[in-house]
Amino acid sequence: MPKDARDSRYDILFEPLQIGPKLARNRFYQVPHCNGGGYRDPSAVAEMRRTKAEGGWGVIFTEQTEIHPTSEITPFIEQHLWEDKDIPALAAMADAMKSHGALAGIQLAYSGINGPNLYSREVPLAVSGGPILTFTSDPVQARTMDRGDIRDLRRWFRNAFRRSQSAGFDLICLYGAHGFGILQHFLSRATNHRTDEYGGSLENRARFLREIVDEAREETKGELAISLRLSLHEAGAFGFSNAELRDFIEMHGDLPDIWDLAHGTWEACSGTSRFKPEGAQEDLVRGIKSLTSKPVVGVGRFTSADAMVRQIRSGILDFIGAARPSIADPFLPKKIAEGRFDDIRECIGCNICVSGDMTGGISRCTQNTAFMEEWRKGWHPERARPKGRSDTVLIVGAGPTGLEAALQAAKRGYHVTLAEATTTLGGRVARERTLPGLSAWGRVADFRTGQLAPLTNAEIYRDSRLTADDVLAMGAQHVAIATGSSWRRDAVARLHLHPIPTDPAMPVFSPDDIMAGDGPAGGRVTLYDDDHFYMGSVIAEVLVARGCTVDFVTPATKVAEWSENTLEQAIIMRRLLELGVTVHTSKAPEAIAAHEVTLGCTWTGAQTTLPADAVVMVTARIPHDSLYHDLRARQPEWAEAGILSVKLIGDAAAPGPIAWATYAGRRFAEDLDEPDDRGDTPAFRREVARLEPLPSRLPS
Ligand code: ADP
Ligand code: SF4
Repeated sequence: MPKDARDSRYDILFEPLQIGPKLARNRFYQVPHCNGGGYRDPSAVAEMRRTKAEGGWGVIFTEQTEIHPTSEITPFIEQHLWEDKDIPALAAMADAMKSHGALAGIQLAYSGINGPNLYSREVPLAVSGGPILTFTSDPVQARTMDRGDIRDLRRWFRNAFRRSQSAGFDLICLYGAHGFGILQHFLSRATNHRTDEYGGSLENRARFLREIVDEAREETKGELAISLRLSLHEAGAFGFSNAELRDFIEMHGDLPDIWDLAHGTWEACSGTSRFKPEGAQEDLVRGIKSLTSKPVVGVGRFTSADAMVRQIRSGILDFIGAARPSIADPFLPKKIAEGRFDDIRECIGCNICVSGDMTGGISRCTQNTAFMEEWRKGWHPERARPKGRSDTVLIVGAGPTGLEAALQAAKRGYHVTLAEATTTLGGRVARERTLPGLSAWGRVADFRTGQLAPLTNAEIYRDSRLTADDVLAMGAQHVAIATGSSWRRDAVARLHLHPIPTDPAMPVFSPDDIMAGDGPAGGRVTLYDDDHFYMGSVIAEVLVARGCTVDFVTPATKVAEWSENTLEQAIIMRRLLELGVTVHTSKAPEAIAAHEVTLGCTWTGAQTTLPADAVVMVTARIPHDSLYHDLRARQPEWAEAGILSVKLIGDAAAPGPIAWATYAGRRFAEDLDEPDDRGDTPAFRREVARLEPLPSRLPS
């Protein structure tokens, strides 16, 4: 990487540092992170990690790798290293990680009290038995391990160490953070109730860690570096607190080759930007370096090079740990190395990537549309494929969809015209970034407008609301209609599939009205949320700030229930309660009168009334697709106008989260000049299970 291009104050980020027997080439450390692909999509995951190697990361880790079938966390799709036949997929990943000089790390996990074993059907084993602790309250208990089980577990770890080494990894991370790994369950008095030599004093609770770290060294002949990934602070009276962690590190300062420290629960560690700023874990990690001679890595959604330098210069961290910033921009280190700060695609802290893991889908990233599509579709976070045979593209609407479509098409070499009806670029993002806690979302627009600005083959026209006549007159060969959507006001969404009776005397508003500064500025407001993501609670915050008394009504059993997938649900509920919002779950409006709303219980149908001065509906959205249909109706005129294709994309086709919009923009640009019959087969590569030979004895 050319050193001359960057300011010398960032040099410290590129100083190599020893991790036990291995030398990391710089301080950029991609901590383990899930991706929703795991063992199901091995090549997709390997290729995703390869882009990080290419982007300059010094250390790159796998996601959680389960070491034995007595502990697996189905339905979450992670990695398996249960037997030798799991090695090739992980070896391919290690190869990809090392392809540009990074160290390859594997995170080994045994989930204990967190593993319901829904797939393996083995009896879960835990430090102390009890109900499995998962997001989904699986009705299963774990059995307390006896000494024989602990011996077995040590052997299973040994097997995993051996397999990790033969797969070609340089580092082994032992997982005991986020409340998830058995190491934390041993350390924590909340989950360790043992009275034998593995329970009681901190010395005893740490015994298992000492044993397996020693055994990892022995098994790998000291050739691999060992990282301990531990929680910075587990809350609760019996939790493994920050004070106990410091005692533990003081007692065992030289145990691992590197300390990898992450906040308590996953929710606390991976907070969204709405609730957590960059570097939020600093207070918990400061001072730990003085307790050990070994390097310390920590996370904090770091995207700013100055913040990274400060962490190292002030002696808080040695390595800058990153999961989400490395997803949003796999080339973050390289861009800092080359002083290309404006090219950094900053993570917006939305946790849509997490939702891919939580839902068992495959992860996507709002900012990096190539994430997890590197192998499946051959997309790259930086490089664009050369354009096809045609030349000109018109994109109507400059929201996240239109901006991404324009940027990717222009990068491919098409001549792009982007027309926007308003004077502001960004569409919904330009509006939503003004909402409480969502300012970082503006990065979606800022990055793309910044990247488009210097491109001579992209022209942007603001204040240009196009009609079908305009589009036909412009005569671009390919047209994308990315005209967005608007929120409904008639209660139609999931519960109500038709509008409900509404007295026109009651003022009814949508989030668009609130974002435009309209709507109630006081009084009692019924907010009906049948959207279930962030918008309902954010609008409630706006209304409270305006002096309104808010009744939050939802047909779900909890507020913002989809935000479980972005790890925000609990914190949203707490925020609403702290703001004094009254929450009405399992209720929905059935009729709206001039001064009150009739609510129905979704279980019994029992009706109650709620006095209200205004109603705000956070429900479904109406796609703005009229321009598309106007153009379709005039298809006979396309040929004369030079038009080859007109596509409806993004929210104008099917409203969804911003990540769906940026993906739609990329997809449009990638599909330009591709044959139309591609819809007959999946638009992505996938791996199909290889059949094992039939066993010789099958039930007859
Ligand atoms: P998406 O999320 O799909 O990008 P948005 O609602 O964020 O959708 O953005 C759509 C953009 O399209 C808005 O900025 C809107 O002003 C613009 N727009 C809508 N209709 C037209 C039109 N006829 N001509 C140009 N721009 C339009
Ligand atoms: Fe960041 Fe959102 Fe991308 Fe996750 S999905 S890496 S939080 S921008």
